[in-house]
Amino acid sequence: MAINPVKGTHDIIADEANTYSGIEYDCRILAELFGYSEIRTPIIEHTPLFLRSVGESSDIVTKEMYTFDDKGGRSLTLRPEMTAGVMRSVVSNKLYATNDLPLKYFYIGPCFRYERPQAGRYRQFHQFGVEAIGSTSYLQDVEVITLGKRVLDSLGIDKVKVLINSLGDEESRENYRAALKEYFSKHIDCMCEDCKRRLEVNPLRILDCKVPEDRKIIEGAPKIHDYLSDVARGHFDNVVDMLKKVGIDVEIDDTLVRGLDYYTGIVFEYHMNDSDDVGAIGGGGHYKNLLKEVGGPDLEGVGLSFGIERLYYVYNKVNAGEEMFVNGPDFYLMGMDAHAIELNFTLANILRMNGYAVEMNYENKSFKSLFKIAEHKHSKFAIIVGEDEIRNGTLTVKNLNTQEQTTVKTDDMLLVFKSMLEDYMRDLRKEAK
Ligand code: AMP
Repeated sequence: MAINPVKGTHDIIADEANTYSGIEYDCRILAELFGYSEIRTPIIEHTPLFLRSVGESSDIVTKEMYTFDDKGGRSLTLRPEMTAGVMRSVVSNKLYATNDLPLKYFYIGPCFRYERPQAGRYRQFHQFGVEAIGSTSYLQDVEVITLGKRVLDSLGIDKVKVLINSLGDEESRENYRAALKEYFSKHIDCMCEDCKRRLEVNPLRILDCKVPEDRKIIEGAPKIHDYLSDVARGHFDNVVDMLKKVGIDVEIDDTLVRGLDYYTGIVFEYHMNDSDDVGAIGGGGHYKNLLKEVGGPDLEGVGLSFGIERLYYVYNKVNAGEEMFVNGPDFYLMGMDAHAIELNFTLANILRMNGYAVEMNYENKSFKSLFKIAEHKHSKFAIIVGEDEIRNGTLTVKNLNTQEQTTVKTDDMLLVFKSMLEDYMRDLRKEAK
């Protein structure tokens, strides 16, 4: 009996994997441009890390964690997000003991949440994100939000709205929480079971409820902006003004709280502005106490994360399925009989040793079907080796973009191929303009 993939997981194959790599490449390059270095933390962590950071009132901790006891009886959890692991690593490795604050790290890797699988929602998915730890400047928040926007720009995802809110400082939040509690207590009887629990543990969480009937009640709830302290309001205004100065328009959304308990101050999300069929493409926020809560010093930070699956979905939507990250071979070597195929094998070997990506046929096939294969594999050139070519010591090389055909002396191939490929890429760029 065949074994099915685990529900909510998906295989990423060939062209799709190429596009994933291309997206991840853009994320990586942009993160480096903004001064972030890579950090790779383990997929498994001790469960209390997430209870302390992501928070016991969050949906992630209450419903979605893959938690199990290992053979030594320790409770471990597959990371549902990456920030907590980065904080743990900063503490474990005393990375904070440096004069070079802020620490700036980016990450790419799989995360796990036991969610109901649907469009854009998986049980194993991938995140790219950054964390900047150790700066109190509002400019650090602006930098992170800008980096996220640049990632979307670089992927051609331009019809995006950036939602922003402030959860305020401790004083603002205390007052706001009390106001929310008072307001929702009056309506809680007709709200969902989750909201009933949230009212007791963390009324702010109610603002994140997606139940349509509850959304109507939420609309009438007190607004955080009326409870912000002068300091928190000043910080928020500075962030919004500076984002405008660097050309990023934001929409203030005073119900935006995000699904993780560790955020304080600025929170933000990136959404498509026409439809919102997969939810937020990415989001993040400022956290004042997170590092301290996992045993580190009192340094605040700001981070963002994108779901790579959602970037992929939106990328395909806006680029109408155009494969930008096609990664086919440079040459597809075609031989019609055993002798030609053997000769091609030695040529392929030489070409690969010289840095060219080469594919070839091992079985006898008609030229017609070999051309189909070469095109299907997105090969740039086909190299045809028939009886005439072998006799004359030549190769027939066909540009599969322009369909132009040339004859090249086999002995000259390394010299000629370099410029042929350069011309090919130049033509392609011209066509793309
Ligand atoms: P969060 O860590 O909840 O702030 O999520 C950050 C981003 O990760 C979201 O904006 C999504 O793009 C992505 N994401 C979160 N949960 C899932 C999921 N179950 N499947 C796919 N992507 C997800």
